[in-house]
Amino acid sequence: MKVPVVIVGAGPTGLTAAALLGRHSVECLVLERWASVYPQPRAVHLDDEVHRIPGRLGLAGEFAAISWPCHGLRLLDPDLRVLAEFHRSPCAGRYGYPEANMFDQPDLEHLLRAHLATIDAVTLRGNTEVTGIRQDRTGVQVEVTDRGTGARETTHADYVLDCDGANSLIRSAIGVGSPTATTRRVLASMTTCMFTEYR
Ligand SMILES: Cc1cc2nc3c(=O)[nH]c(=O)nc-3n(C[C@H](O)[C@H](O)[C@H](O)COP(=O)(O)OP(=O)(O)OC[C@H]3O[C@@H](n4cnc5c(N)ncnc54)[C@H](O)[C@@H]3O)c2cc1C
Repeated sequence: MKVPVVIVGAGPTGLTAAALLGRHSVECLVLERWASVYPQPRAVHLDDEVHRIPGRLGLAGEFAAISWPCHGLRLLDPDLRVLAEFHRSPCAGRYGYPEANMFDQPDLEHLLRAHLATIDAVTLRGNTEVTGIRQDRTGVQVEVTDRGTGARETTHADYVLDCDGANSLIRSAIGVGSPTATTRRVLASMTTCMFTEYR
């Protein structure tokens, strides 16, 4: 199989990239490890500048329906001590959207997947894990494993977009630097913090 673009990962980044490419009729194949939307909440906030992206996709109204403006964010540690505060207006800012918007990541993914289903140029394959990647002069060979059957195949692409999240196979495969020890410590503490809406 050969496609111009393979996108590894159907989180918000991969789904958005596919939608933007699909708008320009760029054929792409999105490969996702899980069979459907991963149900756990994770990302919860985007600002008015990023809100322009669903706006550009024609999804501003749909995104507004699954999100709610707030007055900013507080970053707390596990003992609920405030680490940082970001004050924002819930009213439309200079980009025409509320400056702070809370949402639930699975809702956003459902919204983006429904949108992708309307774009002919985009194919999304779930239950499909990318297990290897190689690049040569002819393009990129993406090794894919069907998690249901265990069957392996190779997909050939001109470009691969690395949208596979924090523990990225692609980044490791192409030798893109891993975080420094300090960054890892900060990130480790961040995963035990939470962002909360405040009024
Ligand atoms: C426990 C946890 C808590 C978090 N809490 C918050 C929070 O409170 N607030 C906040 O704003 N953000 C939070 N985040 C961060 C948030 O999840 C990310 O910012 C957001 O998910 C990034 O989106 P993404 O599309 O880049 O990556 P992801 O959402 O991680 O999507 C990557 C996708 O790639 C798929 N994938 C990975 N490897 C492969 C492979 N080899 N083959 C096929 N598919 C693959 C994954 O299954 C996944 O669906 C949290 C993350 C975690 C893990």
